[in-house]
Amino acid sequence: MFKKLLYVLCSIALTLLVFYGFTHSGLDAFIDGIENKTFDLRQSVISKHRAASKDIVIITIDDASYEYALDNIGEWPLPRGLYADLVEFVEQQNPRLIAFDMLFVKSAKNNTTDDKKLADVFRKYDNVFTAMNFDYQSEDLRKPQDLPAKLQIKLNDLSNDINFEENAFTNYRPILEEIINNTSNIGTVNISRSNDGILRKAPVLVKYRENFYPQMSFLMAYTATGNSSRELTLNENGTLTFSDRVIPLDKNGNAILNWYGARGSYQEIPLYKIIKKMNGENVQLNADFKDKIVFVGMTANSLFDLKTTPTDKLFPGVEVLATYVNNILDNDFVTKAPVGCTILLSVIISLIIGFITLKFVSASAMIFLTLLTYMGYTIFTFQMMKHFNLWVDLVSPLIFATIVFIAMLIVKYLIKSKDFEQQYKLATTDGLTGLYNHRYFQEQMTNTLEHSKRYETEFSLIIIDIDYFKKFNDSFGHQCGDRVLRHVAQTLKRNVRATDIVCRYGGEEMSIILPNIGYQDAIFTAEKLCKTIAEQNIHTNNDKIAKVTISLGVATYPKDAQTTQDLIKIADDRLYKAKANGRNQVGG
Ligand code: GH3
Ligand code: MG
Ligand code: MG
Repeated sequence: MFKKLLYVLCSIALTLLVFYGFTHSGLDAFIDGIENKTFDLRQSVISKHRAASKDIVIITIDDASYEYALDNIGEWPLPRGLYADLVEFVEQQNPRLIAFDMLFVKSAKNNTTDDKKLADVFRKYDNVFTAMNFDYQSEDLRKPQDLPAKLQIKLNDLSNDINFEENAFTNYRPILEEIINNTSNIGTVNISRSNDGILRKAPVLVKYRENFYPQMSFLMAYTATGNSSRELTLNENGTLTFSDRVIPLDKNGNAILNWYGARGSYQEIPLYKIIKKMNGENVQLNADFKDKIVFVGMTANSLFDLKTTPTDKLFPGVEVLATYVNNILDNDFVTKAPVGCTILLSVIISLIIGFITLKFVSASAMIFLTLLTYMGYTIFTFQMMKHFNLWVDLVSPLIFATIVFIAMLIVKYLIKSKDFEQQYKLATTDGLTGLYNHRYFQEQMTNTLEHSKRYETEFSLIIIDIDYFKKFNDSFGHQCGDRVLRHVAQTLKRNVRATDIVCRYGGEEMSIILPNIGYQDAIFTAEKLCKTIAEQNIHTNNDKIAKVTISLGVATYPKDAQTTQDLIKIADDRLYKAKANGRNQVGG
C-alpha cells in the first residue's frame, strides 16, 4: 500500500516537472498549433452533418460571371451602376438584408455618376450593407481618417479581461464618402487568422483610433434580429448577448466560427444569371430573395478573395461572412472549454492511465488499454463539439497523460529493480548475523577460485568456530548466545578488508574468503582476529562480563589445494587441530 502511494506520488512529481518544462519552453505554442489542427479535423468531420441556413443566399461573382462580365460589360471591376441595379432587382422581392462583401473605394475610372447611383440605393433602402477594411498603412501613404460616430459601437466592457489589441488598427482604407454619408450599415470585414494562417475566428468588434467598429456579419445579424442600438455590453463572462443570441469571445475578442462544410454549402446564384434576368432574358433562378439575407461577393478563384478555413483550403471570403451570420442566427458559435475543465480532464485521463499501469503487468495490455483510453477521449472531444459546440482540448490532456504513463513506467521500473535488490539481499544474507549465508559462501568460493585460476593469483580461506559455545549457551541462555554470534560476526567484519567476504558457515561457525591474499597474510589476519575476539568483553544478561574465544583454520589456493571442497576440508582440518591444541588459536 505504502509502496503504491510512493509510486503514485513519485509519478505525479515527475509528471509535473516534465509538464512544467513543456509549458515553459515555448513548446506550448507548438501544442496550441497541433490543438488547432485537431479542431480543424473535428470541424471537417462534424460540419458534414450540419446544414447551412436556408435563409442565406449568395449572389456569387463566380468564374462564369467573371468571364461573362469580361465578354459583355468590359474590364474588371464591374461598373457600380450595375450593383445599384442589382439592389433594385433584389429589393423587389423584399429580402431581409442585402450585403456587399466588397470595398467601394474611390473608383479607378472616377465614374462619379455610377458612384452616386450606388450611394443613392444606400439612402433609399435601409437594409443594404457594405464593407470597410482597417489596416496598418503608414501615415505617409494616407492620413488616418476620422469616421463618423454613427458607424461606431459604444462598448460597455464588464469583462475587463478581453484584450482587443490584436484587433486594433492604425489606418483605414477609405470607401466612398457618399456611401458613408447615406448609411450607417457599414461593417468591417477584417478577419483573424491563427499563426498557421488558417481562419478559425473572426472579431466581433475592431478598434480603430480608440473607437470600436462592428464586424459586418455581426452588424447584419444584430440588425436582422431587430436591434438598432449602437451600445453593447460585454458581459462579465466574456460573452456578447442580444435577442437570445450569445456570442462567446476568446481573450482577444474573437468569436470561434462553427462551419457548415466545405465551400459551396450556401444557396448560390451566379451574378451573370441575374444580369441576364435583369436584361429580360428568360433565366431560371434556383433561389428567391424573399425574407432572405442576401450576400453579394466574389467566389471566383481568379479574384483571389479565398481563405483557408478548417473545412476547406480555398474558402471564399463571402462564405466566411455568411457562416458568421449563420452562427449568430442559430446560436452556433464554438465555445472553448475553460482551463479548469482541461486540467480536470487531464487528471481524469491520467488517473485512468495510472490505474492501467499499476494494474497491468503485461506491456502489450498496458499499451492497448492506454491507446483505447486515448481513442475514447478523442471520441469524447468530437461528441462535445458535435452536440454542445464545445471545444474541449484534445492535445494537452493527452500529452499530460502520456507523461504520466511514461513517468509511472519509469517509477514502476525503478521500484521493481529496488525490489529485486532487496530480494537478492534477503536471499544471500543470514538473518541473525547479517553476514552472507552459506549458499553465498559456496557461490563466492567458486567465483574466487575461478578468478584466481584465470589471473593466476592466490586467495585464502579462514574457517572460524566459537570455543565451548554449547557451554556458553547453557550458562547464559540461547538469546545471549545469539548476541555473541552477532558480536563475533561484527568484530570479524570490522577487522578485515572491504573486499573480504565474511559468511556464516553454519551454526556458530563462520568463514572468510580473502581474495588475493597469500598464506602468510591470511595467518596474520587470523591471528589478529583471534586476539581481538579474546580481548573483548561480552555483557551477559545479569550484567556479568564474560569472554569468548575462537579457533581458526586457514587454507590457501593454490598452495594447499586446487578445489573449493579440498580447501574447505583443509581449513576444517586445521581448525580441528587448533581445537585439539587447546583452542583460542590459529591452526595452520
Ligand atoms: P567447541 O566448538 O569448542 O568444540 O565446543 P562447542 O560447544 O562450541 O561445540 P560445538 O561447536 O559442537 O557446538 C555448537 C553449538 O553452538 C551447539 C549450539 O548450541 C550452538 N549454536 C549453534 N547455532 C546457534 C545459534 O544460532 N544460536 C545459539 N545461541 N547457539 C547456537
Ligand atoms: Mg561448531
Ligand atoms: Mg564451537
